[in-house]
Amino acid sequence: MGELDGRVGVVTGGTRGIGRAIVSRLHREGCSVTVLARDEEAGRALEAEFPGVEFLKVDVSDFAQVREAARLIHSRHNRIDYLVNNAGITRDRLILRMEEEDWKRVIDVNLTGAYNTFRAFLRYIIKADGGAVVSISSVVGETGNIGQANYAASKAGLIGLSRSVAKEVAGRGVRVNVVAPGFISTRMTAGLPEEVRDLFLSRIPLKRAGSPEEVADVVEFLLSPRASYITGQVIHVNGGLYP
Ligand code: NAD
Repeated sequence: MGELDGRVGVVTGGTRGIGRAIVSRLHREGCSVTVLARDEEAGRALEAEFPGVEFLKVDVSDFAQVREAARLIHSRHNRIDYLVNNAGITRDRLILRMEEEDWKRVIDVNLTGAYNTFRAFLRYIIKADGGAVVSISSVVGETGNIGQANYAASKAGLIGLSRSVAKEVAGRGVRVNVVAPGFISTRMTAGLPEEVRDLFLSRIPLKRAGSPEEVADVVEFLLSPRASYITGQVIHVNGGLYP
């Protein structure tokens, strides 16, 4: 018996990295998971690896695509209990060199993408008994970071968005929390400039990068009934890095 048997969950950007670890964790607990992401090949491989997991090719920055996916998932399962806003991108540049396109794309995916999923999925989640949402922000959403003004703004915005929605839907029995990872070993951090990577690692009290599984464990806990009195919170998973 899994902790989430009979539940239906949606994970955005679940084809690799942290999202993939979340999919694996929820699947292990008996949750029926649908992944919304752009990489079709990775999505089909995920379906093959985790029987029962479904992939839908969706760009979260496009509301029409997200709404259609929500309708389809609900028509297939007749319920939606959980949403994980995980899809995210970086386009790092110092602010003086940051093109409008770099700014807009990061905000569109990381922040507007979550606005889109909230709008499309909450109508179903409030009908579930014990529905919950987790948004994946970042430590830099609170600290800021050189070369990441667009990303830090999007992740700070995601905290404000999620905390506001938490207050709006608490009366309907839905909990909304944020997980803010620090430095986690994924393709995203592998792409960071070496000096940024070294700076991060040198500042982590636990002296190592985190794993996607260590983030996924916290996400699963926050969705589960064990976290039934936790809402509107930001949980940091960062090895002791500020804050
Ligand atoms: P990743 O690049 O490995 O994976 C990102 C996922 O998002 C991929 O599946 C990708 O296909 C998907 N995605 C990107 N744009 C999308 C779009 N427009 N529509 C749908 N899906 C899209 O990244 P990761 O390191 O696993 O990060 C996952 C989340 O965790 C992100 O929100 C990231 O900002 C956040 N985060 C990561 C770290 C870290 O150290 N890796 C730290 C803090 C926060």
